[in-house]
Amino acid sequence: MEIQEKLVIIGSGPAGLTAAIYAARGSLNPVVISGREAGGQLMLTTDVDDFPGFPEGIQGPDLMARMKKQAERFSTKFIDEDVISVDLKRRPFEIKSETCNLLTETLIIATGASAMWLGLPSEQKLIGKGVSSCAVCDGYFFKDKDVIVVGGGDTAMREAQHLSKLCKSVTIVHRRDSLRAQSALQNLVKSKPNIKFIWNTEVIECLGDEKIKAVKLKDVKSGKIKEMPIDGLFVAIGHKPNVEFLKGQLELDKGYIKVKNETHASVDGVFVAGDVSDYHFRQAVTAAGAGCKATMDVEEYLEANV
Ligand code: NAP
Repeated sequence: MEIQEKLVIIGSGPAGLTAAIYAARGSLNPVVISGREAGGQLMLTTDVDDFPGFPEGIQGPDLMARMKKQAERFSTKFIDEDVISVDLKRRPFEIKSETCNLLTETLIIATGASAMWLGLPSEQKLIGKGVSSCAVCDGYFFKDKDVIVVGGGDTAMREAQHLSKLCKSVTIVHRRDSLRAQSALQNLVKSKPNIKFIWNTEVIECLGDEKIKAVKLKDVKSGKIKEMPIDGLFVAIGHKPNVEFLKGQLELDKGYIKVKNETHASVDGVFVAGDVSDYHFRQAVTAAGAGCKATMDVEEYLEANV
């Protein structure tokens, strides 16, 4: 006999887990397919100082562990696998993970976004060999070394700040002459004696075979190219939404899931929360708020339609 769920939630970052907490308390018995990288981007973050309720700050993984515990307290079921495919043309919807096949009346997609790369063949070849997108995960390998961080946003500042505690030097390479990061983070980074900036410059090639040894930098104003020896390259240039598993079944907008009335996807009964549909705010607290809204809309939908 196939069991039909009322609600399946895909994703276990702040959006997915907040959706689960509200759904479980609302007796929807949600199933969360948490993904192999359960917890989302906050699992790769150290100090979270802007999530309300933690005046001393909290570590990203601790915050996610607390949210998960809260969802479990109200009987959320977790499947720690990736979703392979969804069929949103049939009713109930069918969701396939690596070992499970679920049928569900409603779906919340909260799969978040993943780090972007520069797209250079030499960068791709050296990922894990001195090229990384996660200072928290890999920073320790660069203790007392010289590294570069590429990017001018909040992520790049956070990465640089974390690396400055471990590395001999951190050079932020940015393609413009001003940062888009929030001013508090800019000030923090600029106050570190071992962080410096190279402005109006792009990394155009990574050099090295078994390990990165240097990068080729291009001054975008003068066109001049120079080589800079380094031990590590951290790419922090933004994120792309995780939508591959949808295989075109929902309308997208600039690659993000398109929503109407905040949480409704283009197929009735499918709701969306967090960074997978938000290219503007992308905060843990806004994702959590979106998760709450998505579940409230699921409840309304079930009352009206089932
Ligand atoms: P972002 O704000 O989109 O910044 C990306 C940066 O990378 C920009 O400076 C951009 O340059 C640069 N860039 C993009 N593509 C590039 C390329 N191909 N080559 C070189 N440089 C490139 O992304 P983010 O920093 O990941 O932040 C995303 C969101 O998460 C933001 O809303 C941010 O506030 C939030 N966030 C918050 C925190 C926090 O501590 N509160 C931490 C991390 C992220 P341009 O400036 O020239 O466009």
